[in-house]
Amino acid sequence: MVRFTVLASGSKGNSTFICGGRTRILVDAGLSCRELFRRMKLAGEDPGTLDAIVVTHEHQDHINGLAVTARKLGIPVYFTEATHRAWMRWLTPRRQMSYAQWLELCRKQAAERQAEPESAAATVDLTEADPEEAETECAAPQVEAVGTPAAEPVAEAARTSPPSLKDDPTWLPAVEYFEAGQPFTIGDIGLSPFTIPHDAADPVGFVFTADGVRLGFATDLGYVTPNVKQQLKDLDLLLLESNHDLEMLRDGPYPWSVKQRVLSRVGHLSNDAASDFLSNGYDGQAAYVILAHLSENNNLPELARVAAERALLGRASLLANRLLLAEQHQPLAPITF
Ligand SMILES: [Zn+2]
Ligand SMILES: [Zn+2]
Repeated sequence: MVRFTVLASGSKGNSTFICGGRTRILVDAGLSCRELFRRMKLAGEDPGTLDAIVVTHEHQDHINGLAVTARKLGIPVYFTEATHRAWMRWLTPRRQMSYAQWLELCRKQAAERQAEPESAAATVDLTEADPEEAETECAAPQVEAVGTPAAEPVAEAARTSPPSLKDDPTWLPAVEYFEAGQPFTIGDIGLSPFTIPHDAADPVGFVFTADGVRLGFATDLGYVTPNVKQQLKDLDLLLLESNHDLEMLRDGPYPWSVKQRVLSRVGHLSNDAASDFLSNGYDGQAAYVILAHLSENNNLPELARVAAERALLGRASLLANRLLLAEQHQPLAPITF
């Protein structure tokens, strides 16, 4: 059984839930932890069963709720090393961190994780999470106090609990590295990360596989490279960026420099570029095509839909294709295979 739910998509936050076999992961965590949990519940999923978070790149709309969510659930975060480093730099008040300083910080955090009791993460009870809890402060998993001698020195307790978000905003329960071009697995889900052209440290798209189902995932890319084309083949589901309408972007409210950035080879995929891929680079195999990361300022859902429909029209497999649009403000209905 494979389930795929886009929880949010767009420049105000991105996150997708994937369940394959017994494994459940989030791809990006660009909404607040509370909102992510709310949307997961809306989609019928229990946030407490998540096994990991996988990060495509360090832009804010993909990592906003990352630290709080990973801490609350006590689950690992999968990054490329360069993305992890960029994320830490972004969160560290002293923005400039040398490579040596970064390595030292990683070493320190790994030692802290080792000092932590194994069971700490397992005792978190999501149903009792305070709804008013500030997102900036992590509700660190509470170690069950039963049986603990009351006179235990405070210093000992402090040593074994994770640092607060204020003390160390970059601390995570566990960090795992992957590399573009090197497939790996998380439980029952296979992941094949591939490089995408985008103005981030080391951005990736993915093909996820589980129970023989292949899910392709490519947003935040300036153009469809030959390698991206190669990766997005033989899919059962394709999630593809259709960010902006070229005319709306050109005439729209963004400053010229931002327009240039979006339009560049490391910016975002336009409706035209997405359609061009769908008509010329795509094998038409996927049962579902989901248009994603639509701009609220420079696009209209109908423009994206019409462009993609026109591109798919010539394809023999059109009838088998379901074209959906991912939304910013509510989760898409879960897709099950
Ligand atoms: Zn984005
Ligand atoms: Zn981005």
